[in-house]
Amino acid sequence: MKRQLRRAALTILKSCGAFSLVRKSAWRRHKLLILCYHGVSLEDENQWRPFLYMSPQQLERRLDILRDGKYAVLPLAEALERLYRKDLPPRSIALTFDDGNYDFYKQAWPRLKRYGFHATVYLTTYYSELQRPVLSLICSYMLWKARDMGRVDLKEFGIDLPGTLSSVENREEVASRLAQWAAGQDLNGEEKDQIAASLAERLGIDYQKLRQKRILQLMNREEMKQLAAEGVDFQLHTHRHRTPLSEELFRREIQDNRARIANAISGKREHFCYPSGAYRPEFLGWLAKEEVVSATTCDTGFATSETNPLLLPRLVDTSGRTDLEFESWVSGVGHFLSRRKRGRLAYVPD
Ligand SMILES: [Zn+2]
Repeated sequence: MKRQLRRAALTILKSCGAFSLVRKSAWRRHKLLILCYHGVSLEDENQWRPFLYMSPQQLERRLDILRDGKYAVLPLAEALERLYRKDLPPRSIALTFDDGNYDFYKQAWPRLKRYGFHATVYLTTYYSELQRPVLSLICSYMLWKARDMGRVDLKEFGIDLPGTLSSVENREEVASRLAQWAAGQDLNGEEKDQIAASLAERLGIDYQKLRQKRILQLMNREEMKQLAAEGVDFQLHTHRHRTPLSEELFRREIQDNRARIANAISGKREHFCYPSGAYRPEFLGWLAKEEVVSATTCDTGFATSETNPLLLPRLVDTSGRTDLEFESWVSGVGHFLSRRKRGRLAYVPD
């Protein structure tokens, strides 16, 4: 269905009371919608990657919709327990934030606290320890900031820029070649960061200032500790944000992730989120051996008591979704208007 047509249909459905009807229905009652967020902008990140970041104001509007619609925003563990016990309260929602960005600490959590909402953060630990921006992301972000520079000489990074930085494709190409080049050099985290610093210099960007603002950085140990004490639930997302195809390496990612989180906060970590939403059938057995009891994907949909707990769908909420579209999803109407996807056994991003 074309987007505009869909929005027009939603407006009509809302005005004739369909949202409220579905929201209160027995059908919705037995379903859990797990919402997935990534970043909440510290500055302008939502203009750079609207599918990863949203502005704090947009997040607040989402939270208003949840509060005004009297949704039950449950802690993830409780939501899952009650889902499989068939004991969910009406309009169940669970909020999850992927990666553990510093902007969760600075922007999202203070707002969630104000609304009294629970949240789970799936934390990837490598960059949390390193306390430097994630290389591929910061390079892409800086290239976007420098998009009006036109042609830039990037030969010192082994890159012959095919055109200007005003093209998204060119920028993404450069960012991915830089990351590949860095990966091929067997560099440690600080050396990788030096690449970002050199690129910043070439683009006329103050890298120290970006670092001080903690743009594209993860929360540190002290911040995690503070939020855990305030009730944030930290869960697993692999140490290096990857899912190796060998059982030993895959399980080591979980073990390292768990051990790093345990350095900061006590408690059990048995909930997992697939990095980049990528999963394969063999992962399920490996997760079970690591005593992981739930795993979330980025596949769109509601979880029911029939859903495999290691393949839980979510709704990835992004800047591109209007408030009306968001409300259609939390109420349940969105389910009926979404394109049906065949159930899949694996999802591997390109
Ligand atoms: Zn992630």
